[in-house]
Amino acid sequence: MTIFNFCAGPAMLPAAVLKRAQAELLNWNGQGTSVMEVSHRGKPFMAVAEKAEADLRTLLNVPSNYKVLFMHGGGRGQFFSVPLNLAKRGNLAQHLVTGQWSDIAVKEAAKYMQSEVVAQSANVGGRVCVPLQSSWDINKQAAYFHYCPNETIEGVEINWVPKTGNVPLVADMSSNILSKKIDVSDYGIIYASAQKNIGPSGLAVVIVREDLIGLERNDTPAIFSYKEQSAAGSMYNTPPTFSWYLAGLVFEWLLDNGGIAPIEAANLVKAQTLYRCIDNSDLYRNQVSNDNRSKMNVVFQLGDGSLDSEFLKQAELSGLQALKGHRAVGGMRASIYNAMPLEGVTALVEFMQEFERTHG
Ligand code: PMP
Repeated sequence: MTIFNFCAGPAMLPAAVLKRAQAELLNWNGQGTSVMEVSHRGKPFMAVAEKAEADLRTLLNVPSNYKVLFMHGGGRGQFFSVPLNLAKRGNLAQHLVTGQWSDIAVKEAAKYMQSEVVAQSANVGGRVCVPLQSSWDINKQAAYFHYCPNETIEGVEINWVPKTGNVPLVADMSSNILSKKIDVSDYGIIYASAQKNIGPSGLAVVIVREDLIGLERNDTPAIFSYKEQSAAGSMYNTPPTFSWYLAGLVFEWLLDNGGIAPIEAANLVKAQTLYRCIDNSDLYRNQVSNDNRSKMNVVFQLGDGSLDSEFLKQAELSGLQALKGHRAVGGMRASIYNAMPLEGVTALVEFMQEFERTHG
């Protein structure tokens, strides 16, 4: 039976990447050791690190006035790193809150700055809606403006980019980086935890505009300092080398498959297939407004919640794993990141239709 893993993160990785890592595990690069056992400062690993950065730059067309950092501490590590590193721009952090992750970012920033919610998503006619920018204002004095373009838990995605003028726009792209084309120059800082579209957990990729480096509080720990890490090529201390290597393999896999445009098209087909199944059913429902439906995390409820455990049990037996929704939201969540093939979504849709026929 083919297994399809819909986990929100750590999420499935491309099979081709795992096979390559497996083939290289005991004897990487002809070294006679694994990549985990060599110095991060030696030439062979430095070549891996540089190629990973170069490939990421190619994939996202990162302008030359942005640094790419490979940091520790995942997504949450950036919730405090951003306010620490931008402290000299001012004492006010402004936030758009559209779900749990952007909300946690507010609370974490509040430990270091005045942290203010400018707008939040609302329930409009029973569906979650992100308010358009025309209905809120950004304070021009703010040190930065933070938002999360894809909320992993609620399945809420924002398909437009806030216009923040001279206030640097900071985006937590943990769950939709590399899923679609973006214009990096719209942002001051983009960060992402790795365990969805990049590689193993623990790593955070940070893309930061050069003029925003060096504005940190004096007590910023060096390993979280953009200045220290950019001066050290993200090797101020020993970086998570295996995660970095595996991220590089994922970037290569994306490039080998044509880059962002084809994966974006494939992601759209996958999401449309799943939402169509939900919309055409009497049993399943999604409560996010059409404009804000996530293409990465498809959240849905069964009209009859007492069927949840049976649905999950039958899904597991059919090889469809990790469909349980986040405990805060309940119901189901199918995370369909870049590595999920269309066949996985088709198998899920067939299962859902069959389940509705027999239990609806
Ligand atoms: N932001 C978003 C959007 C996430 O989905 C997550 C993790 N699921 C995080 C931040 C936190 O990442 P980490 O667990 O790596 O700290």
